[in-house]
Amino acid sequence: MTDSYNRQIDYVRIAVTDRCNLRCFYCMPAQGIAYEPKKELLSYEEITRILKVLGELGFKKVRFTGGEPFLRKDFMELLEHTSKIASYESIHLTSNGTLIQKHINRLKELGITKINLSIDSLNAERFHKITRRNDFKKVIQTFHLLVENGFKIKLNAVIMKGINTQDIIPLAELSKDYPIDVRFIEEMPFNGGYKENLEMYAAKDIHADLSAHYPILNKIISKHGDTANLVSVPGYKGNIGVIAAFSRTFCNTCNRLRISAKGDIKSCLYDDGVFNIRNFIRSGVSDQELMDKFSEIIRLKPKDGFIAEKMRKSPELALQSMSSIGG
Ligand code: SAM
Ligand code: SF4
Repeated sequence: MTDSYNRQIDYVRIAVTDRCNLRCFYCMPAQGIAYEPKKELLSYEEITRILKVLGELGFKKVRFTGGEPFLRKDFMELLEHTSKIASYESIHLTSNGTLIQKHINRLKELGITKINLSIDSLNAERFHKITRRNDFKKVIQTFHLLVENGFKIKLNAVIMKGINTQDIIPLAELSKDYPIDVRFIEEMPFNGGYKENLEMYAAKDIHADLSAHYPILNKIISKHGDTANLVSVPGYKGNIGVIAAFSRTFCNTCNRLRISAKGDIKSCLYDDGVFNIRNFIRSGVSDQELMDKFSEIIRLKPKDGFIAEKMRKSPELALQSMSSIGG
């Protein structure tokens, strides 16, 4: 399925919950979070139905995210059902790594081995300051367990001025011994109202830090839909990437659609939800009607994140939390 700008849209990211056991300050406020009532969230049957319909439209990749997806009680059941939908070449997860450990064997059995793990610092104190929780040891242990078990890990770190820029090189150094992608993400203003203005540490600043430290960085050719500018240090097992999530330099190759936990479809991260698919499904529509609606939404996908932002009905980006959007 292509949109009006000839981009092939074949990747859906679904937030399976808006709940989280961490409180990363760039994502959620410390307190006063109004979670959606559980019945307002898409059920796993509704998610499976959406995935089947999108599969008919040519979608090949799905990522489950959140909130913390492993907080959802029927999450493994959802994964089992999704793994049976033939159209998906790969099922990906994004997780904070606090609750995965007991599911590692089952994930392997289901062939779900591509996990994005969020670790913003290798310093326990800074990790605590950022996540407002004391789970550093557990998350690092999860990282090692996943790597030892052959999972394909992308380690995501949001880089913030005055907070964790000193972690860039230590995190990048993980790509020396481990065959992982370490990816640095520009902070975006979706934090649930915690702060309005970002003091941006931009992708170009991160690239400059990497270039200052590593005399040679080999550029990796990007694949369909890649958001990270990937490089590698000669002799290192993994890669290092920078995601210009706020500068929005990758919109011309965007291949994705997002669905929030309560069913709001975002055809761009910067729009404010173009359609609620949960209400549509609950009104009793047929699969064909669902397919037609998705086709229409994809056709209307905005050219880039700046245009999507201009078209918003509510201008305050910061009032949304990434935990409900799904990252
Ligand atoms: N809880 C899971 C996790 O942290 O990996 C999945 C959901 S989280 C919203 C998905 C990704 O979004 C994480 O890598 C997180 O670091 C990133 N994220 C959250 N808020 C962000 C923000 N304001 N700017 C940039 N990235 C953000
Ligand atoms: Fe939770 Fe992930 Fe948001 Fe952190 S980034 S608060 S782990 S949803």
